[in-house]
Amino acid sequence: MKYREFVNYGVPALLISHHISYNSKMFPHSTGQDLQGREATDAGFMRAALMEAAAAAAADDVPVGALVVREGAIIATARNEMKASGATAHAELRAINIALTVLKSERLDGCTLYVTLEPCAMCAGAIVLARLDRVVFGAWDPKAGMAGSVDDLLRHPRLNHRPEVRGGVLDGECGAVLTAFFARRRTSPALGERPSSVS
Ligand SMILES: [Zn+2]
Repeated sequence: MKYREFVNYGVPALLISHHISYNSKMFPHSTGQDLQGREATDAGFMRAALMEAAAAAAADDVPVGALVVREGAIIATARNEMKASGATAHAELRAINIALTVLKSERLDGCTLYVTLEPCAMCAGAIVLARLDRVVFGAWDPKAGMAGSVDDLLRHPRLNHRPEVRGGVLDGECGAVLTAFFARRRTSPALGERPSSVS
């Protein structure tokens, strides 16, 4: 088994294939209800999602990372893999599909999705279909975001499932990873063009 410790990000998680187990003492507020504790928990999980984004950047893919969390435990982690698998291989869609497989379930009731970039229309649709309870994202995406930027599919009044949404968690760090990636691409055109859907 391969283990990787996220000490540099304050999240000492053990990564085993797609599954992460971690020391729950690092998320002391994960079961608390107070707002301050919840914000600290969200920031901790977003840092783990940023690790996935960094791994995507290292593979020359648009750096977006995602996790699915249930009852304080990370069920699935994923990163963008468009280079290998095409335009629909977004981090959050992959994380949802991994979580469904791990939980042997058709839906993700009781789960929270963490993603470093505001979900697009495809991923927002998958979030609604999978019935996630909550979505926490980092940077806003004014060109493709469907959690309030372009439109709000996640909380559309005519859909029969509307997850709780929190945006802008560690948005500076999540956005900086994308900005640095596209700046590097501009100076290295061989890496490819910047997609129009990502700000
Ligand atoms: Zn997407």
